[in-house]
Amino acid sequence: MERTLSIVKPDGVKKNVIGEVIKRFEQKGLRIAGLRMLHLSRQDAENFYVVHKERPFYGSLTGFMSEGPVVVMVIEGDGAIAKVREIMGATNFKDAAPGTIRADFATDIERNVVHGSDSEKSAAYEIPFFFSSLELH
Ligand code: UDP
Ligand code: MG
Repeated sequence: MERTLSIVKPDGVKKNVIGEVIKRFEQKGLRIAGLRMLHLSRQDAENFYVVHKERPFYGSLTGFMSEGPVVVMVIEGDGAIAKVREIMGATNFKDAAPGTIRADFATDIERNVVHGSDSEKSAAYEIPFFFSSLELH
């Protein structure tokens, strides 16, 4: 059983698709092991995305991620990391496969509705960033 961290980003919350995102994960047989809504500070967003610190989009991305509330969740299931990435679609919605969350709801390469850990290593950093073991079920 594998766990991954997903986020409905501020644009996803504004677009009213929190339930739609969760439904797509659940319909693919994945379980929600933990869930919370919160508003990241700029510093929180910078720490969460520290792997992208040197990238040209880092400043804009961390501004966007702290502009409004997000929903963070831990998703559990066989191959959960890859499954969530598949349900999300490619980073750039223009490249995202039809029927993926990003193809259906993203409006911009940055404002792409959803985050999902890209590897076991990322998940191991991102899950405890938001959740203690007592908050995972
Ligand atoms: N992003 C961006 N411009 C880019 C690449 C990424 O604004 O050229 C944003 C986008 O919101 C993306 C996030 O930065 O989801 C993290 O980028 P990453 O390459 O990790 O993509 P992801 O893992 O989210 O598909
Ligand atoms: Mg990533």
